[in-house]
Amino acid sequence: MRVLVTGANRGIGAALLAAFEARGDTVRGTARRPGGGDLLPLDVTDPASVAALPGQVGALDLLVCNAGIFPDRGEALDTGFPAAMWADTFATNVTGVFLTVQALLPALKASRGRIAIISSQMGSSAQATGGAYIYRASKAAALNLGRNLATDLAVDGIAVGIYHPGWVRTEMGGSAADISVTEAAGGLLDRFDSLSPATSGTFETWDGRPHPF
Ligand code: NDP
Repeated sequence: MRVLVTGANRGIGAALLAAFEARGDTVRGTARRPGGGDLLPLDVTDPASVAALPGQVGALDLLVCNAGIFPDRGEALDTGFPAAMWADTFATNVTGVFLTVQALLPALKASRGRIAIISSQMGSSAQATGGAYIYRASKAAALNLGRNLATDLAVDGIAVGIYHPGWVRTEMGGSAADISVTEAAGGLLDRFDSLSPATSGTFETWDGRPHPF
């Protein structure tokens, strides 16, 4: 299987890259600053960077949109959540996902590939526990985006899955989180493997439980 994982230089993305490699898939990862490694350069907020991606990727069976940010922790409801933070977060977590999918559609259509979008349970309206307004709204939008892509791409045989990766020990998740990146990646690979046109539009947790929208 030919796979591309965005935001693969650390955290869940890096663990996904390692897990795909370990089982022999042909996988490439992206990074904003790839350095000297094997990663492809990609800043999902930069349309020129996204536009350069298809030429470097070739045929594709699975696109994993993993890159994301969560900057609005500790913001006070009465004074925080500035407009620039909304713009930056949506540019990464929503527009960035859409532009990446759009750029790679020809490659995905050619192989009837699949798309996995890493959203979060914090984007679910069923988990409206307050706070983190920007991140929650962005992950709700990513979920909505995935559901509508599933509808539009059904005609091309492209399945779209949306996932909550668990509360994972990364820079974003923090050291008190429930699971390791290895556990998250292992579970997510199983989810991606079970994604098909019949299950397109699904919103699932890393360990295979359907999540309410
Ligand atoms: P990390 O903060 O550890 O890693 C985020 C990754 O996204 C990094 O590789 C980062 O690159 C990349 N990234 C950020 N902005 C951009 C950009 N503009 N263009 C390209 N890449 C970018 O996060 P996690 O690994 O924890 O999270 C991965 C995904 O899982 C995210 O979408 C997150 O919202 C989601 N998630 C995580 C949970 C958790 O508990 N950890 C829970 C629920 C969802 P760089 O190093 O350059 O910053």
